[in-house]
Amino acid sequence: MTDSRTTHDTVGQPSAELAELKGRVEHFIHTRVIPREPVLDAGGPAAASALRELQALARAERLWALPLPAELGGGGLPFSAYAQLAEAEGASDHGPAALGSAPLLDVTMLARHAGSRVRETYLEPLVAGRIRTCYAMTEADAPGTDPFLTRTRADRETDGSRRITGRKWFTSGAATADLVTVLARTGAAPGDREGLSLVLVPTGSPGFRIVRELPVLGAAGQYEIELDGVVVPGDHLIGEEGGALAVAGERLALGRTLRSLRWLGQAQRAFDLMCERAATRSGSRGPLADHQLVQQHVFDALLALRSTRPLVHEAVALIAAGQDARTEVGLAKVAAARLLQQVTDSAIQVHGAAGLGPDTPLPALFRGGRTARILDGPDELHITSVARRTLRAYGPRPVTPG
Ligand SMILES: Cc1cc2nc3c(=O)[nH]c(=O)nc-3n(C[C@H](O)[C@H](O)[C@H](O)COP(=O)(O)OP(=O)(O)OC[C@H]3O[C@@H](n4cnc5c(N)ncnc54)[C@H](O)[C@@H]3O)c2cc1C
Repeated sequence: MTDSRTTHDTVGQPSAELAELKGRVEHFIHTRVIPREPVLDAGGPAAASALRELQALARAERLWALPLPAELGGGGLPFSAYAQLAEAEGASDHGPAALGSAPLLDVTMLARHAGSRVRETYLEPLVAGRIRTCYAMTEADAPGTDPFLTRTRADRETDGSRRITGRKWFTSGAATADLVTVLARTGAAPGDREGLSLVLVPTGSPGFRIVRELPVLGAAGQYEIELDGVVVPGDHLIGEEGGALAVAGERLALGRTLRSLRWLGQAQRAFDLMCERAATRSGSRGPLADHQLVQQHVFDALLALRSTRPLVHEAVALIAAGQDARTEVGLAKVAAARLLQQVTDSAIQVHGAAGLGPDTPLPALFRGGRTARILDGPDELHITSVARRTLRAYGPRPVTPG
């Protein structure tokens, strides 16, 4: 992805215009979104209505769809500029949906790899927030870390359409999505590296069904889905036939970087809560902040925050420049996931029982930290592929590709 506009001076130093926008995003998240989190977290019709209200406010405040293309109704902010505010926007898990930037991955993927009819049909309503998408790679019966074992099939019919059959699980947001991008076999057999394609499936198609919801540590939003002979037009193939892994790789690199930025925002929020609690709660020996073991939590959390942020922005800079960012994205993803888990754990510890109860967002933030180490590829996957790539530059022997 090349990025020519100069909305910021250098990475990490937003221009005055961008700093003002970032301040407005921060204000919106803290005054509008965070107070509605309990309703939004609970799901159902009340959550849907609260989200619609927030989206209307975001449009009114000219904060809608900031990183999406201007010609489709978005804010047109280049990725490197948007990355300067994605941390603030992602301080709440609901921030990207409320501000209309959640479809960034799908809009980017479809704009680059879909045919003209698909682009014309779906891009504008996606940016406007009238339709929603989800993404289904992982299957219950095959390790998600090994896409070559994908069993779901998208067979070619005589008229060129595709008939899709299979099951996926942990498909985030499937119950409210209008479209799902499915990783499916258009050739070869499970275990082969070839024959994997991405197919866009309208969830209203006959044969599509939500099998069940899969609560994650008690939270809603993940689903098992079934595609039982769902037929879609041939032009709903995204990218080349057999070219899924190249498109998915591009999507995952951007997605992992975006998530890392959001995890930074959530870790910063937990850190702020921890420090406020330490500074204001007192026992007979004075405030918690005077205990050295509490200071240790604060130091370690600050160190983790300050060392992770530049790593994430290194990945941002390479992606914005369209360069190979595999190592930097792997480092950023693992560092940001560990950061969120570590800082939320410390913040809970410093809060005592209150940190586990219903009066702070810490349980939800902690849940996010725990799941971060598995979703978007478990940490081990990134650790081994970054290490192998690094070692290749040193050893005389070729190392297994990864
Ligand atoms: C909250 C949440 C949301 C999700 N959303 C989506 C979604 O929207 N769409 C989607 O398709 N999927 C989604 N997933 C699934 C997620 O991408 C997979 O869970 C993840 O890729 C791991 O796949 P798996 O669960 O099959 O684990 P497996 O592949 O079975 O791996 C299990 C464990 O084995 C170990 N392991 C695996 N590979 C290696 C390795 N190379 N080296 C060392 N150890 C290894 C790790 O400890 C790993 O955690 C979501 C998951 C969660 C928890």
